[in-house]
Amino acid sequence: MNVASLTIAQLRAAYQSGDLTPADALKSIAGAIDKTDPGIGGYLSYDLEQALRVAETADLSKPLGGVPIALKDLINAEGHPCSCASKMLHGKYTSPYDATVVRKLREAGAIPFGRANMDEFAMGSSNENSGIQPCRNPHDTDRIPGGSSGGSAAIVAAQTAIAALGTDTGGSIRQPASHCGVVGLKPTYGRVSRFGLVAFASSLDQCGPLTKTVEDTALLLQAIAGPCERDSTCLDEAVPDYTAALGQDISGLKVGLPKEYFAEGLAPSVKEKVEAALKTLEGLGAETVEISLPNTEHAVATYYIIATAEASANLARFDGVRYGHRSAEADDLLGVYEQSREEGLGAEVKRRILLGTYVLSSGYYDAYYLRAQKVRTLIREDFSRAFEQVDVIASPVSPTPAFKIGEKSSDPLSMYLADIYTISANLAGVCGISVPCGTVAEGGSELPVGLQLLGKPLGEADLLKTAHAVEQAL
Ligand code: GLN
Repeated sequence: MNVASLTIAQLRAAYQSGDLTPADALKSIAGAIDKTDPGIGGYLSYDLEQALRVAETADLSKPLGGVPIALKDLINAEGHPCSCASKMLHGKYTSPYDATVVRKLREAGAIPFGRANMDEFAMGSSNENSGIQPCRNPHDTDRIPGGSSGGSAAIVAAQTAIAALGTDTGGSIRQPASHCGVVGLKPTYGRVSRFGLVAFASSLDQCGPLTKTVEDTALLLQAIAGPCERDSTCLDEAVPDYTAALGQDISGLKVGLPKEYFAEGLAPSVKEKVEAALKTLEGLGAETVEISLPNTEHAVATYYIIATAEASANLARFDGVRYGHRSAEADDLLGVYEQSREEGLGAEVKRRILLGTYVLSSGYYDAYYLRAQKVRTLIREDFSRAFEQVDVIASPVSPTPAFKIGEKSSDPLSMYLADIYTISANLAGVCGISVPCGTVAEGGSELPVGLQLLGKPLGEADLLKTAHAVEQAL
Protein backbone atom coordinates (compact mmCIF):
# COMPACT_ATOMS: atom_id res chain seq x y z
CA MET A 1 0.00 0.00 0.00
CA ASN A 2 1.13 3.55 -0.74
CA VAL A 3 0.41 5.33 2.53
CA ALA A 4 0.67 8.70 0.77
CA SER A 5 -2.55 7.92 -1.09
CA LEU A 6 -4.48 8.05 2.19
CA THR A 7 -6.40 10.99 3.57
CA ILE A 8 -5.62 12.33 7.04
CA ALA A 9 -8.79 10.68 8.32
CA GLN A 10 -7.84 7.29 6.80
CA LEU A 11 -4.28 7.46 8.13
CA ARG A 12 -5.60 8.24 11.61
CA ALA A 13 -7.92 5.22 11.40
CA ALA A 14 -5.00 2.99 10.32
CA TYR A 15 -3.01 4.17 13.37
CA GLN A 16 -5.97 3.58 15.70
CA SER A 17 -6.50 0.04 14.45
CA GLY A 18 -2.80 -0.70 14.83
CA ASP A 19 -2.34 -1.43 11.09
CA LEU A 20 0.33 1.24 10.73
CA THR A 21 2.82 3.18 12.81
CA PRO A 22 4.02 6.71 12.03
CA ALA A 23 7.47 5.28 11.18
CA ASP A 24 5.91 2.86 8.63
CA ALA A 25 3.92 5.73 7.18
CA LEU A 26 6.97 7.98 6.80
CA LYS A 27 9.02 5.25 5.12
CA SER A 28 6.19 4.45 2.71
CA ILE A 29 5.73 8.13 1.82
CA ALA A 30 9.49 8.53 1.30
CA GLY A 31 9.34 5.51 -1.05
CA ALA A 32 6.48 7.09 -3.01
CA ILE A 33 8.41 10.36 -3.28
CA ASP A 34 11.55 8.60 -4.56
CA LYS A 35 9.52 6.69 -7.13
CA THR A 36 7.12 9.36 -8.40
CA ASP A 37 8.47 12.80 -7.60
CA PRO A 38 11.38 12.86 -10.08
CA GLY A 39 8.72 13.10 -12.83
CA ILE A 40 6.79 15.82 -10.99
CA GLY A 41 9.29 17.99 -9.11
CA GLY A 42 6.90 18.77 -6.28
CA TYR A 43 9.43 18.40 -3.48
CA LEU A 44 12.57 20.47 -2.99
CA SER A 45 13.76 18.17 -0.21
CA TYR A 46 12.71 15.90 2.61
CA ASP A 47 14.55 14.54 5.65
CA LEU A 48 13.41 11.05 6.61
CA GLU A 49 15.88 10.62 9.50
CA GLN A 50 14.74 13.83 11.15
CA ALA A 51 11.06 12.91 10.72
CA LEU A 52 11.59 9.40 12.09
CA ARG A 53 13.11 10.92 15.23
CA VAL A 54 10.01 13.06 15.70
CA ALA A 55 7.81 10.02 15.02
CA GLU A 56 9.36 8.13 17.96
CA THR A 57 7.44 10.30 20.39
CA ALA A 58 4.28 10.81 18.31
CA ASP A 59 1.16 11.03 20.46
CA LEU A 60 -1.51 9.21 18.45
CA SER A 61 -4.30 10.45 20.71
CA LYS A 62 -3.89 14.00 19.36
CA PRO A 63 -6.03 15.29 16.45
CA LEU A 64 -3.16 15.00 13.93
CA GLY A 65 -1.10 12.50 15.92
CA GLY A 66 1.67 11.05 13.73
CA VAL A 67 0.34 12.65 10.52
CA PRO A 68 3.11 13.85 8.14
CA ILE A 69 2.35 17.26 6.64
CA ALA A 70 4.38 18.79 3.80
CA LEU A 71 5.20 22.50 3.97
CA LYS A 72 5.50 25.07 1.20
CA ASP A 73 9.14 26.10 1.22
CA LEU A 74 8.50 29.54 2.72
CA ILE A 75 7.19 28.20 6.05
CA ASN A 76 9.89 28.16 8.72
CA ALA A 77 10.24 24.89 10.64
CA GLU A 78 13.13 24.59 13.05
CA GLY A 79 16.01 22.58 11.60
CA HIS A 80 14.46 22.46 8.10
CA PRO A 81 15.79 24.28 5.05
CA CYS A 82 13.62 27.21 3.91
CA SER A 83 14.56 28.52 0.48
CA CYS A 84 11.36 30.05 -0.92
CA ALA A 85 12.54 28.25 -4.08
CA SER A 86 15.09 31.04 -4.52
CA LYS A 87 18.80 30.77 -5.26
CA MET A 88 19.10 33.55 -2.70
CA LEU A 89 18.40 31.05 0.11
CA HIS A 90 18.71 27.57 -1.41
CA GLY A 91 21.36 25.56 0.43
CA LYS A 92 22.21 28.63 2.48
CA TYR A 93 19.52 28.91 5.13
CA THR A 94 18.16 26.56 7.81
CA SER A 95 15.28 27.82 9.94
CA PRO A 96 16.26 28.50 13.55
CA TYR A 97 12.62 28.54 14.73
CA ASP A 98 9.08 27.32 14.04
CA ALA A 99 6.41 29.43 12.36
CA THR A 100 3.27 29.61 14.49
CA VAL A 101 1.47 27.30 12.04
CA VAL A 102 4.25 24.73 12.50
CA ARG A 103 4.18 25.09 16.28
CA LYS A 104 0.43 24.52 16.16
CA LEU A 105 0.81 21.53 13.83
CA ARG A 106 3.31 20.01 16.25
CA GLU A 107 0.98 20.69 19.19
CA ALA A 108 -1.73 18.79 17.30
CA GLY A 109 0.70 15.88 16.92
CA ALA A 110 1.60 16.33 13.22
CA ILE A 111 5.08 15.66 11.79
CA PRO A 112 6.37 18.35 9.39
CA PHE A 113 7.75 16.31 6.48
CA GLY A 114 9.05 17.60 3.18
CA ARG A 115 9.54 21.02 1.59
CA ALA A 116 7.17 21.73 -1.30
CA ASN A 117 8.29 23.47 -4.50
CA MET A 118 6.78 26.89 -5.29
CA ASP A 119 7.20 29.99 -7.40
CA GLU A 120 10.16 31.97 -6.10
CA PHE A 121 9.01 33.97 -3.06
CA ALA A 122 5.42 32.97 -3.97
CA MET A 123 5.36 35.18 -7.07
CA GLY A 124 3.58 33.41 -9.87
CA SER A 125 0.59 31.44 -11.07
CA SER A 126 2.28 28.45 -12.69
CA ASN A 127 5.29 27.38 -10.61
CA GLU A 128 7.47 28.22 -13.63
CA ASN A 129 9.15 30.88 -11.50
CA SER A 130 10.73 28.33 -9.14
CA GLY A 131 14.41 29.20 -8.96
CA ILE A 132 15.30 25.58 -8.20
CA GLN A 133 13.39 23.20 -10.47
CA PRO A 134 10.23 23.05 -12.57
CA CYS A 135 7.08 21.45 -11.14
CA ARG A 136 4.63 19.52 -13.31
CA ASN A 137 0.93 18.78 -13.14
CA PRO A 138 0.41 15.11 -12.23
CA HIS A 139 -2.65 14.96 -14.54
CA ASP A 140 -0.52 15.96 -17.55
CA THR A 141 3.19 16.50 -17.00
CA ASP A 142 3.45 18.86 -19.99
CA ARG A 143 1.24 21.28 -18.06
CA ILE A 144 1.71 23.60 -15.11
CA PRO A 145 0.39 22.59 -11.67
CA GLY A 146 -0.60 26.21 -10.97
CA GLY A 147 1.12 28.50 -8.52
CA SER A 148 2.51 29.69 -6.40
CA SER A 149 1.81 26.70 -4.10
CA GLY A 150 2.20 24.40 -7.11
CA GLY A 151 4.39 21.89 -5.30
CA SER A 152 1.95 21.61 -2.38
CA ALA A 153 -0.95 20.88 -4.76
CA ALA A 154 1.02 18.57 -7.06
CA ILE A 155 2.31 16.29 -4.29
CA VAL A 156 -1.15 15.85 -2.77
CA ALA A 157 -2.59 15.08 -6.24
CA ALA A 158 0.31 12.75 -7.13
CA GLN A 159 -0.22 10.84 -3.87
CA THR A 160 3.25 11.57 -2.61
CA ALA A 161 1.94 13.53 0.40
CA ILE A 162 -0.95 13.03 2.80
CA ALA A 163 -1.64 16.77 2.89
CA ALA A 164 0.25 20.05 2.66
CA LEU A 165 0.22 23.68 3.71
CA GLY A 166 0.50 26.48 1.19
CA THR A 167 0.05 30.24 1.17
CA ASP A 168 -2.33 32.42 -0.82
CA THR A 169 -1.60 36.08 -1.56
CA GLY A 170 -3.69 36.36 -4.70
CA GLY A 171 -4.92 32.82 -5.30
CA SER A 172 -1.88 30.65 -4.70
CA ILE A 173 -3.72 27.98 -2.73
CA ARG A 174 -7.01 27.95 -4.65
CA GLN A 175 -5.61 28.12 -8.19
CA PRO A 176 -3.12 25.19 -7.94
CA ALA A 177 -5.75 23.21 -5.98
CA SER A 178 -8.13 23.75 -8.91
CA HIS A 179 -5.55 22.77 -11.55
CA CYS A 180 -4.43 19.65 -9.66
CA GLY A 181 -7.88 18.47 -8.54
CA VAL A 182 -7.41 18.83 -4.77
CA VAL A 183 -9.13 20.90 -2.08
CA GLY A 184 -7.46 24.19 -1.07
CA LEU A 185 -8.63 26.81 1.41
CA LYS A 186 -7.49 30.40 1.89
CA PRO A 187 -8.60 31.52 5.35
CA THR A 188 -9.93 34.96 6.18
CA TYR A 189 -7.09 37.48 6.57
CA GLY A 190 -6.05 37.18 10.23
CA ARG A 191 -7.62 33.76 10.85
CA VAL A 192 -4.17 32.09 10.68
CA SER A 193 -0.93 33.55 12.01
CA ARG A 194 1.67 34.77 9.52
CA PHE A 195 4.49 34.62 12.07
CA GLY A 196 7.32 32.61 10.55
CA LEU A 197 6.07 32.68 6.95
CA VAL A 198 8.50 34.49 4.66
CA ALA A 199 6.44 37.53 3.68
CA PHE A 200 5.50 38.36 0.09
CA ALA A 201 2.72 40.94 0.56
CA SER A 202 1.91 41.24 4.25
CA SER A 203 -1.59 42.68 3.91
CA LEU A 204 -2.65 39.85 1.58
CA ASP A 205 -0.77 36.67 2.62
CA GLN A 206 -2.60 33.83 4.37
CA CYS A 207 -1.54 30.24 5.04
CA GLY A 208 -3.95 27.35 4.50
CA PRO A 209 -4.40 23.63 3.73
CA LEU A 210 -4.22 21.68 0.45
CA THR A 211 -5.75 18.25 0.94
CA LYS A 212 -7.52 15.34 -0.76
CA THR A 213 -10.88 15.96 0.93
CA VAL A 214 -12.89 18.77 2.49
CA GLU A 215 -12.83 16.86 5.79
CA ASP A 216 -9.00 16.93 5.79
CA THR A 217 -9.06 20.66 5.09
CA ALA A 218 -11.32 21.13 8.12
CA LEU A 219 -8.94 19.05 10.28
CA LEU A 220 -5.87 21.02 9.20
CA LEU A 221 -7.56 24.41 9.50
CA GLN A 222 -8.68 23.45 13.00
CA ALA A 223 -5.06 22.87 13.94
CA ILE A 224 -3.49 26.01 12.45
CA ALA A 225 -6.18 28.69 13.04
CA GLY A 226 -6.42 30.99 16.02
CA PRO A 227 -4.87 33.97 17.79
CA CYS A 228 -1.11 34.55 17.86
CA GLU A 229 0.64 37.08 20.02
CA ARG A 230 3.52 37.29 17.55
CA ASP A 231 1.36 38.49 14.64
CA SER A 232 -0.50 41.71 15.42
CA THR A 233 -2.76 41.21 12.38
CA CYS A 234 -3.89 37.79 13.62
CA LEU A 235 -7.47 38.02 14.92
CA ASP A 236 -8.20 37.42 18.57
CA GLU A 237 -11.22 35.23 17.77
CA ALA A 238 -12.03 31.76 19.05
CA VAL A 239 -11.83 28.87 16.57
CA PRO A 240 -15.14 27.08 15.95
CA ASP A 241 -15.40 23.31 15.47
CA TYR A 242 -14.90 23.09 11.71
CA THR A 243 -15.61 19.37 11.34
CA ALA A 244 -19.03 19.98 12.94
CA ALA A 245 -19.92 21.96 9.80
CA LEU A 246 -19.45 18.94 7.54
CA GLY A 247 -22.61 17.12 6.54
CA GLN A 248 -24.87 19.97 7.63
CA ASP A 249 -27.93 20.63 5.53
CA ILE A 250 -27.48 23.40 2.95
CA SER A 251 -31.14 23.91 2.07
CA GLY A 252 -31.98 27.58 2.09
CA LEU A 253 -28.32 28.58 1.66
CA LYS A 254 -28.09 31.68 -0.52
CA VAL A 255 -25.36 31.41 -3.13
CA GLY A 256 -24.39 34.56 -5.04
CA LEU A 257 -23.11 34.31 -8.62
CA PRO A 258 -21.12 37.43 -9.54
CA LYS A 259 -22.04 38.27 -13.11
CA GLU A 260 -18.55 39.71 -13.69
CA TYR A 261 -17.04 36.24 -12.98
CA PHE A 262 -19.07 34.44 -15.65
CA ALA A 263 -18.35 36.89 -18.46
CA GLU A 264 -15.94 37.09 -21.38
CA GLY A 265 -12.66 35.22 -21.01
CA LEU A 266 -14.06 32.18 -19.20
CA ALA A 267 -13.40 28.97 -21.15
CA PRO A 268 -16.72 27.30 -22.12
CA SER A 269 -15.50 23.91 -20.81
CA VAL A 270 -14.76 25.39 -17.37
CA LYS A 271 -18.04 27.30 -17.35
CA GLU A 272 -19.97 24.12 -18.06
CA LYS A 273 -18.40 22.24 -15.13
CA VAL A 274 -18.93 25.12 -12.72
CA GLU A 275 -22.55 25.49 -13.81
CA ALA A 276 -23.12 21.76 -13.32
CA ALA A 277 -21.78 22.05 -9.76
CA LEU A 278 -24.13 24.98 -9.15
CA LYS A 279 -27.06 22.85 -10.37
CA THR A 280 -25.97 20.23 -7.85
CA LEU A 281 -26.05 22.83 -5.09
CA GLU A 282 -29.53 23.87 -6.20
CA GLY A 283 -30.57 20.21 -6.14
CA LEU A 284 -29.53 20.12 -2.49
CA GLY A 285 -31.79 23.04 -1.70
CA ALA A 286 -29.44 26.01 -2.11
CA GLU A 287 -30.80 29.09 -3.82
CA THR A 288 -28.62 30.83 -6.41
CA VAL A 289 -28.95 34.55 -7.11
CA GLU A 290 -27.07 36.80 -9.49
CA ILE A 291 -25.01 39.46 -7.76
CA SER A 292 -22.56 42.12 -8.91
CA LEU A 293 -19.02 42.88 -7.80
CA PRO A 294 -18.73 46.01 -9.95
CA ASN A 295 -15.09 46.82 -9.23
CA THR A 296 -13.83 43.43 -10.45
CA GLU A 297 -12.34 45.00 -13.58
CA HIS A 298 -9.90 46.98 -11.42
CA ALA A 299 -8.81 44.06 -9.24
CA VAL A 300 -5.81 42.83 -11.22
CA ALA A 301 -4.30 46.30 -11.52
CA THR A 302 -4.95 47.08 -7.86
CA TYR A 303 -3.45 43.81 -6.70
CA TYR A 304 -0.30 44.14 -8.78
CA ILE A 305 0.34 47.62 -7.37
CA ILE A 306 -0.25 46.74 -3.72
CA ALA A 307 1.41 43.31 -3.83
CA THR A 308 4.53 44.58 -5.60
CA ALA A 309 4.80 47.62 -3.30
CA GLU A 310 4.72 45.39 -0.23
CA ALA A 311 7.06 42.85 -1.83
CA SER A 312 9.65 45.51 -2.62
CA ALA A 313 9.78 46.41 1.07
CA ASN A 314 9.65 42.82 2.36
CA LEU A 315 12.41 41.62 0.06
CA ALA A 316 14.81 44.41 1.00
CA ARG A 317 16.15 42.14 3.75
CA PHE A 318 17.71 39.84 1.14
CA ASP A 319 20.76 42.03 0.74
CA GLY A 320 23.66 39.60 0.83
CA VAL A 321 24.48 40.66 4.38
CA ARG A 322 21.88 39.13 6.67
CA TYR A 323 20.60 36.08 4.80
CA GLY A 324 21.62 33.70 2.10
CA HIS A 325 23.64 34.33 -1.00
CA ARG A 326 26.51 36.83 -0.96
CA SER A 327 28.25 37.60 -4.21
CA ALA A 328 31.95 36.77 -4.44
CA GLU A 329 32.32 39.44 -7.13
CA ALA A 330 31.54 42.55 -5.09
CA ASP A 331 34.34 44.77 -3.84
CA ASP A 332 32.39 47.38 -1.86
CA LEU A 333 29.23 47.56 0.25
CA LEU A 334 26.91 48.79 -2.48
CA GLY A 335 28.37 46.13 -4.74
CA VAL A 336 27.49 43.46 -2.16
CA TYR A 337 23.83 44.51 -2.27
CA GLU A 338 23.69 44.88 -6.02
CA GLN A 339 25.62 41.81 -7.05
CA SER A 340 24.09 39.51 -4.43
CA ARG A 341 20.56 40.47 -5.50
CA GLU A 342 21.48 40.32 -9.17
CA GLU A 343 22.79 36.75 -8.76
CA GLY A 344 20.36 35.46 -6.13
CA LEU A 345 16.96 36.65 -7.38
CA GLY A 346 15.07 35.49 -10.48
CA ALA A 347 13.57 37.63 -13.25
CA GLU A 348 9.99 37.76 -11.92
CA VAL A 349 11.13 38.71 -8.42
CA LYS A 350 13.28 41.50 -9.84
CA ARG A 351 10.40 42.71 -12.01
CA ARG A 352 8.18 42.94 -8.94
CA ILE A 353 10.77 44.72 -6.82
CA LEU A 354 11.26 47.27 -9.60
CA LEU A 355 7.52 47.76 -10.06
CA GLY A 356 6.94 48.03 -6.31
CA THR A 357 9.75 50.51 -5.81
CA TYR A 358 8.39 52.58 -8.68
CA VAL A 359 4.81 52.79 -7.38
CA LEU A 360 6.10 53.79 -3.93
CA SER A 361 8.54 56.41 -5.16
CA SER A 362 7.82 60.07 -4.50
CA GLY A 363 5.98 61.58 -7.43
CA TYR A 364 4.27 58.27 -8.27
CA TYR A 365 3.04 57.28 -4.81
CA ASP A 366 -0.18 59.30 -5.03
CA ALA A 367 -0.85 58.32 -8.61
CA TYR A 368 -0.44 54.58 -8.13
CA TYR A 369 -0.09 53.28 -4.58
CA LEU A 370 -2.51 55.63 -2.84
CA ARG A 371 -5.03 55.22 -5.63
CA ALA A 372 -4.78 51.44 -5.47
CA GLN A 373 -5.50 51.60 -1.73
CA LYS A 374 -8.65 53.59 -2.45
CA VAL A 375 -9.80 51.11 -5.08
CA ARG A 376 -9.06 48.32 -2.63
CA THR A 377 -11.60 49.89 -0.28
CA LEU A 378 -14.17 49.89 -3.10
CA ILE A 379 -13.49 46.21 -3.79
CA ARG A 380 -13.89 45.41 -0.11
CA GLU A 381 -17.20 47.32 -0.09
CA ASP A 382 -18.40 45.29 -3.10
CA PHE A 383 -18.00 42.15 -0.99
CA SER A 384 -19.62 43.67 2.12
CA ARG A 385 -22.66 44.61 0.04
CA ALA A 386 -22.81 41.19 -1.61
CA PHE A 387 -22.65 39.41 1.74
CA GLU A 388 -25.67 41.39 2.96
CA GLN A 389 -27.59 39.50 0.26
CA VAL A 390 -26.00 36.04 0.19
CA ASP A 391 -24.25 33.52 2.47
CA VAL A 392 -21.53 32.43 0.04
CA ILE A 393 -20.35 33.48 -3.42
CA ALA A 394 -19.63 30.84 -6.09
CA SER A 395 -17.49 31.15 -9.22
CA PRO A 396 -14.78 29.51 -11.27
CA VAL A 397 -11.25 29.57 -9.79
CA SER A 398 -9.36 30.05 -13.02
CA PRO A 399 -10.61 31.03 -16.49
CA THR A 400 -8.98 27.97 -18.13
CA PRO A 401 -7.79 24.53 -17.10
CA ALA A 402 -4.03 24.10 -16.50
CA PHE A 403 -2.11 25.51 -19.45
CA LYS A 404 1.04 24.12 -21.05
CA ILE A 405 4.44 24.77 -19.52
CA GLY A 406 5.93 27.70 -21.45
CA GLU A 407 2.59 28.84 -22.90
CA LYS A 408 2.40 32.11 -20.94
CA SER A 409 5.84 32.50 -19.40
CA SER A 410 7.02 35.07 -21.94
CA ASP A 411 3.91 37.21 -21.39
CA PRO A 412 3.63 38.23 -17.71
CA LEU A 413 0.49 40.28 -18.36
CA SER A 414 -1.53 37.31 -19.66
CA MET A 415 -0.31 35.35 -16.64
CA TYR A 416 -1.43 38.15 -14.28
CA LEU A 417 -4.85 38.33 -15.94
CA ALA A 418 -5.46 34.64 -15.18
CA ASP A 419 -5.70 35.62 -11.48
CA ILE A 420 -8.91 37.56 -12.10
CA TYR A 421 -11.28 35.36 -10.05
CA THR A 422 -9.02 34.80 -7.04
CA ILE A 423 -7.25 38.07 -6.20
CA SER A 424 -10.28 40.12 -5.11
CA ALA A 425 -10.78 37.81 -2.12
CA ASN A 426 -7.30 38.71 -0.87
CA LEU A 427 -7.85 42.42 -1.43
CA ALA A 428 -11.13 42.17 0.52
CA GLY A 429 -9.67 39.83 3.16
CA VAL A 430 -12.49 37.27 2.84
CA CYS A 431 -12.06 33.47 2.89
CA GLY A 432 -12.21 31.17 -0.12
CA ILE A 433 -12.00 27.51 -1.05
CA SER A 434 -11.48 25.54 -4.25
CA VAL A 435 -13.24 22.18 -4.40
CA PRO A 436 -12.89 19.83 -7.40
CA CYS A 437 -16.00 19.80 -9.62
CA GLY A 438 -15.00 17.49 -12.45
CA THR A 439 -12.56 17.30 -15.33
CA VAL A 440 -12.49 18.55 -18.89
CA ALA A 441 -10.85 16.88 -21.88
CA GLU A 442 -8.05 18.94 -23.37
CA GLY A 443 -5.25 17.84 -25.69
CA GLY A 444 -5.69 14.17 -24.81
CA SER A 445 -5.73 14.70 -21.02
CA GLU A 446 -8.48 14.95 -18.45
CA LEU A 447 -7.80 18.16 -16.55
CA PRO A 448 -9.40 19.02 -13.20
CA VAL A 449 -11.59 22.06 -12.69
CA GLY A 450 -12.32 23.66 -9.32
CA LEU A 451 -15.40 25.43 -8.02
CA GLN A 452 -14.52 28.50 -5.95
CA LEU A 453 -16.64 29.40 -2.94
CA LEU A 454 -16.00 32.70 -1.15
CA GLY A 455 -17.27 33.37 2.36
CA LYS A 456 -17.84 36.20 4.80
CA PRO A 457 -14.99 37.20 7.10
CA LEU A 458 -14.51 34.23 9.47
CA GLY A 459 -17.12 32.30 7.47
CA GLU A 460 -14.87 29.26 6.94
CA ALA A 461 -17.48 26.92 8.42
CA ASP A 462 -19.99 27.98 5.73
CA LEU A 463 -17.41 27.27 3.02
CA LEU A 464 -16.56 23.86 4.44
CA LYS A 465 -20.22 22.93 4.76
CA THR A 466 -20.98 23.96 1.17
CA ALA A 467 -17.82 22.46 -0.33
CA HIS A 468 -18.44 19.21 1.52
CA ALA A 469 -21.98 19.05 0.08
CA VAL A 470 -20.59 19.54 -3.44
CA GLU A 471 -17.85 16.95 -2.91
CA GLN A 472 -20.24 14.33 -1.56
CA ALA A 473 -22.86 14.92 -4.25
CA LEU A 474 -20.33 14.77 -7.12
N1 GLN B 1 -0.46 34.68 -8.96
C1 GLN B 1 -0.41 35.74 -8.00
C2 GLN B 1 0.92 36.44 -8.09
O1 GLN B 1 1.68 36.08 -8.91
C3 GLN B 1 -0.68 35.23 -6.64
C4 GLN B 1 0.48 34.63 -5.96
C5 GLN B 1 0.16 34.19 -4.58
O2 GLN B 1 -1.00 34.07 -4.19
N2 GLN B 1 1.19 33.97 -3.81
O3 GLN B 1 1.21 37.32 -7.35
